[in-house]
Amino acid sequence: MNPDAPVRRILHCDMDCFYAAVHMRDDPSLRGRPVVIGGSPAGRGVVAAASYEARAFGIRSATPAARAVRLCPQAVFLKPEFPRYRLESRQVFEIFRHFTDIVQPVSIDEAYLDVSSRLDRWGSATAVAQAIKQRVRDERGLTVSVGVAPNRLLAKIASDRDKPDGLTVVPPSRVHAFLDPLAVRDLPGVGPATERRLERMGVETVGELRAVPLDRLERGFGRHGATLYRYARGQDDRPVRVHRERKSLSAERTYSQDLTALTEMDEELGRLSERVGRGLAKHGLGARTLTLKVRYEDFTTLTRSRTLVAPTADAGEIASVMRLLLRHSEAGRRAVRLLGVGGSNLVRGGIAQLALFAPD
Ligand SMILES: [Mg+2]
Repeated sequence: MNPDAPVRRILHCDMDCFYAAVHMRDDPSLRGRPVVIGGSPAGRGVVAAASYEARAFGIRSATPAARAVRLCPQAVFLKPEFPRYRLESRQVFEIFRHFTDIVQPVSIDEAYLDVSSRLDRWGSATAVAQAIKQRVRDERGLTVSVGVAPNRLLAKIASDRDKPDGLTVVPPSRVHAFLDPLAVRDLPGVGPATERRLERMGVETVGELRAVPLDRLERGFGRHGATLYRYARGQDDRPVRVHRERKSLSAERTYSQDLTALTEMDEELGRLSERVGRGLAKHGLGARTLTLKVRYEDFTTLTRSRTLVAPTADAGEIASVMRLLLRHSEAGRRAVRLLGVGGSNLVRGGIAQLALFAPD
């Protein structure tokens, strides 16, 4: 980190159980009950959000809906209403923007705020965070957990420490004290695979990770090693960016064994389309142009695109366009080693159907 860089005051604001909270606010009969937002329990859908009461039963987002019913038969199952969540999101973000111009949305219910230039007015970043929480509660009837820290990395970790309705402050002088007792998996980008490999090195906490020399991390984790080294020290120079509109969203997969049957490829396209649809929905976006990518066994690569009349985030619709485009390739006659599904020409809101879920 550049020692001469001015100290930033960054907030990470993360709405608590956003989808479920919106329903529970508007329907008092739901309060205090396990509420699950997602696909029909009878179908193959997944959970998009679960209230804290439902989480107590082990239900998380991406839990198959059918499994959620088994875990908690008395839960209230509701269909997601994305237009409603987007509207709410807009109102909440407007509150954020009242406190600073530098707001970077991360998803429909999460944003980074740089409040460094607002301290004269508010006294401290903590005071800004308290005022934001108060306004979101008073004006929207919702709770937001906030992390306050000198950078995005630490603010993000902090907002997650005390949910729901949390406020966790990491002063610059307390960075190591805050990080050291955390588990390595609490660092962004540390998934189960990295966690297992660190564990084999005898590293379970961030404090232990901080004791590992840089060259050893680079040997073990390649480029990711340097990131681990910085993150263990709480270092992160990324600024809060105001404009971070996505241009495209895609998912692709390389197969260890080439695909030869069209039915198999259709199935894969269904899976990839679901990932793209879910990503679009998460960001409140729809794609007007859909692109199929096919790489044949000899590594030649073909892309085919189609532009739709109306933007979509519907996995079923994306998949059917992909299957159609696949029929305009040589797939089936030639073996395929990679398939990709992409959405571009993205627009915010105004989407007729937003299905996170396989059709029932
Ligand atoms: Mg959230």
